[in-house]
Amino acid sequence: MKMTNEIPYKIYLEEQEMPREWYNVRADMKKKPAPILNPNTLQPVTLEELSGIFCEELAKQELDDTTPYFSIPQEILDFYKMYRPSPLVRAYCLEKQLDTPAHIYYKFEGNNTSGSHKLNSAIAQAYYAKNQGLKGVTTETGAGQWGTALSMACSYLGLDCQVYMVKCSYEQKPFRREVMRTYGARVTPSPSMNTEIGRKINAEFPGTTGSLGCAISEAVESALSQDGYRYVLGSVLSQVLLHQSIIGLEAKAALDKYGIKADMIIGCAGGGSNLGGLISPFVGEILRGEANYDIIAVEPASCPSLTRGVYAYDFCDTGKVCPLAKMYTLGSGFIPSASHAGGLRYHGMSSVVSELYDQGLLTARSVEQTEVFKAAQTFARIEGILPAPESSHAIKVAIDEALKCKETNETKNIVFGLTGTGYFDMVAYQKFNDGEMRDYIPTDEELRKAIDTLPKIN
Ligand SMILES: *Cc1c(COP(=O)(O)O)cnc(C)c1O
Repeated sequence: MKMTNEIPYKIYLEEQEMPREWYNVRADMKKKPAPILNPNTLQPVTLEELSGIFCEELAKQELDDTTPYFSIPQEILDFYKMYRPSPLVRAYCLEKQLDTPAHIYYKFEGNNTSGSHKLNSAIAQAYYAKNQGLKGVTTETGAGQWGTALSMACSYLGLDCQVYMVKCSYEQKPFRREVMRTYGARVTPSPSMNTEIGRKINAEFPGTTGSLGCAISEAVESALSQDGYRYVLGSVLSQVLLHQSIIGLEAKAALDKYGIKADMIIGCAGGGSNLGGLISPFVGEILRGEANYDIIAVEPASCPSLTRGVYAYDFCDTGKVCPLAKMYTLGSGFIPSASHAGGLRYHGMSSVVSELYDQGLLTARSVEQTEVFKAAQTFARIEGILPAPESSHAIKVAIDEALKCKETNETKNIVFGLTGTGYFDMVAYQKFNDGEMRDYIPTDEELRKAIDTLPKIN
């Protein structure tokens, strides 16, 4: 084992040390995540059915819970090389400021123009669409990070990209919208008049500013109604977790390179893709009985699917066109309060992360946004990076855990996922700086109302 002071501030992998395969944690799970169901028949979705919505290769990845490794196609590896490996950073300055004996490391995924980890899956999904000879893809975007990542990937491969952007974000985040358009994407505020579901929602709720669930339904309808188009999604799905395993594989390789054994791994959880990707190789070791880790998923108190939701089959979108998934959910009708971590405002959770959580392989914690922004401010001032509000949920718990180590005088190795930068979230920072940010925790009554509307299956 090398001496602590030999650990560089940033641990990078050499190009030849970069992972060449994604890891599918489902292969090592004895009890698999429940199958996704066709919303019309309520039977497990077949490859044929799924291939009508998703690209064929991606549909195969979605349904495959036995193949442990998928080799990453060369063209995707070439794209990854433009912004990967992402650094694993030892937060020396933060440790010093907290005066903790803990060693804190963060895996930084904000080192690309889209500003988050979402590009890791965007390029994979765009590649398989292109390879299948499709003309383009459709998708939705809430806060805008996924739409931005997909626009970048599509422009690189020469694929048409149509993004349905939740209307309130379209209006409030003009810069995100313009980044997407600069990369050639067509961005439509949702609900729009382009689709049947959009027209229906506009008629029913005049002046509505939209929702993620509604934008998903519009994007799916739009893909199904155009020749040579498929729908792609930036989180929640098992295929997305597979692509995001690149985060965990790199992190593990970097730790191994310096003989560091992580004790605790922390990630923020919206749909569960960055967390699932970060923890996959480590969870694989736990499942195979090779090692143990404390894993913590962090979610907003305003949208607490793991900590206060139920484990049940639910719809992934408002229009109920996507397959149903068994997951920890607040109900597809749950509308979280206007929190500033847009990427964490999803009613459900990846079925892989949900099943791992149900088996006790990870724990979950919910945190309030004012505390999260305090942690973000501490981190920005001492480590230099201006974190995304979503990522700051993980920072908050990493700091809490490091302070606990100070009390107990334990030298734990804490690794957390820093999923992105917050340059497009300055309105949220402004609210925080002006002391106008409020916390909102839904009451049991509110949660029960949404949970009562879950479909009755099993
Ligand atoms: C989208 C997003 C998240 C949450 O999505 P997951 O699928 O849960 O990873 C977290 N951080 C950032 C910066 C994001 O853009």
